[in-house]
Amino acid sequence: MSPIEPFQARTNIAYFTMEIAIRPEIHSYSGGLGILAGDTARSGADLELRMVFVSLLSRAGYFRQVIDERGWQTEAPDWWEVERWCTPLHAMVAVEIDGKAVWIRPWLYRHVAPHGHEIPILLLDTDVEQNDAESRTLTHYLYGGDETYRLKQEIVLGIGGMRVLHALGFDIRTYHLNEGHAALLTVELLNRSKVQPEDLAPGEELYDIPEVRSQCVFTTHTPVEAGHDRFSYELFDRLLPGFVDLATLKRLAGAEELNMTRLALNLSDYVNGVARRHAETTALMFPGYRIHAVTNGVHLGTWAHPGFTQLYDANFPQWQHEPEALIHALQLPDDQIWDCHCAAKAELLQLVQSATGTALSPDVLVLGFARRMTGYKRPLMLFEQLDRLSAIAAKYPLQLVIAGKAHPRDTEGKEAIRRLHELARTLAGNLRCVYLPNYDMQLAARLVAGADLWVNTPLPPMEASGTSGMKAALNGVLNLSVLDGWWIEACVEGVTGWSIGADPGSAIDEKAAAAHLYDKLEHTILPLFYDNNAAWRIMMKQSIANIASFFNTHRMMRRYATEAYLR
Ligand SMILES: *Cc1c(COP(=O)(O)O)cnc(C)c1O
Repeated sequence: MSPIEPFQARTNIAYFTMEIAIRPEIHSYSGGLGILAGDTARSGADLELRMVFVSLLSRAGYFRQVIDERGWQTEAPDWWEVERWCTPLHAMVAVEIDGKAVWIRPWLYRHVAPHGHEIPILLLDTDVEQNDAESRTLTHYLYGGDETYRLKQEIVLGIGGMRVLHALGFDIRTYHLNEGHAALLTVELLNRSKVQPEDLAPGEELYDIPEVRSQCVFTTHTPVEAGHDRFSYELFDRLLPGFVDLATLKRLAGAEELNMTRLALNLSDYVNGVARRHAETTALMFPGYRIHAVTNGVHLGTWAHPGFTQLYDANFPQWQHEPEALIHALQLPDDQIWDCHCAAKAELLQLVQSATGTALSPDVLVLGFARRMTGYKRPLMLFEQLDRLSAIAAKYPLQLVIAGKAHPRDTEGKEAIRRLHELARTLAGNLRCVYLPNYDMQLAARLVAGADLWVNTPLPPMEASGTSGMKAALNGVLNLSVLDGWWIEACVEGVTGWSIGADPGSAIDEKAAAAHLYDKLEHTILPLFYDNNAAWRIMMKQSIANIASFFNTHRMMRRYATEAYLR
């Protein structure tokens, strides 16, 4: 029996994603988008949804971050043991790209939910002996290479992925496109819907567009036009000559350039943004489309620190299936919450000690900041006024733990990492600041549980949702964030956490936002932590109750299931 057989009959939804964070040992993800895909799969499996996941194998991962003594990031391939975790499937398919057949082999990862239910995750691999040396590297580097490499990867994912599902005998009713990277699957669907030319009445469409639309669900993640994946039609036509009627494609994907977001928008019946504010921003950017809002979440079982898992298990036995149960977190004993937190903090400090040699104090507030290092996240905001920061730290001790990777070609992001290292040295006499290299899901789990305060400083409206703050809240870590993305929905000032600025607009100017940040730290947050820790513990419970009960992927997947998949 083929290993895929048990899944065939009970699967009718295919989720396509460029990256997916399945487990720490599998490096097929880079950041938030991949974490979301992984949490989607984990909740999908817990809820026994009829799903298959399709992504790229990314044998060499995104990259392993190495930081030299000057703080400069260099990148090393991040190979992982494919054979240890995945099984190669016999079904191979080919896509003709740039005049040659590129063969694709799917690998199967069986994700097993805690209660035993399994779902298949297919990872596509072009590193097979049938391919030439160049094609073999196509699924090595996630987000690597140039524009041509990227378009070829998207062809492998969208068109190759469709053919793999077909070759494996899946009968799929709904395709869920996680971001525009997978949009080319719609072109394969267009071709399958093609009306025979001899049956074509004058003026009739070559393709059955309503039929394609009825099969597609599109989740967009990018709040600005410049962030959308775009390719020239010249490049597209060189790689896939005659693949699809170009006039039709231009009508669907933009007259000038092949815009993957537009293509997905025009060929999906259900489109959503990943938070309420993001759906509004998307609707303004693309007038005339109905954009739903399904706010992201995190998979609670994955992101709860073991101590908190035990505490929740003991008090709310059903919480992992029914996260709403955490609304009762106010009933948890304060000292138990605090003990769990202190254990998680001690683990983080241990990790910091072994990674950097710096001993942080368990009695001093740990401010955590970790995410992709890139311009709009504004990682330098905390250091906008060094004298102010030092003065605050002199009054109330403070220690900073920072982590994050910059894309290899994001010079601004890499420069920010260098600058952060320099600043850490400059400030050494006033406050301890450490940078932990190679931010990944394992390090993230330690950080979001072990910090006391989780800080987020994006430029509104660039943070479509954000999820790391949700992981923090689940572990009783309080959020201080610009009002953007998910935090607009979650922040109740002084109850669930704090905002930087009273509204999104007041955080646009970086200097002004930094001043708000310092004010809140100095006058509200640090005094509460040091002088009224009983009130801090109550806020921890309020944050768990109000945030974790809602901002989880079980709620998110139940919404996708009833509103998008069951149309
Ligand atoms: C959760 C997570 C992210 C997303 O963090 P944001 O702050 O929401 O951008 C990125 N990378 C890793 C490794 C994560 O675990």
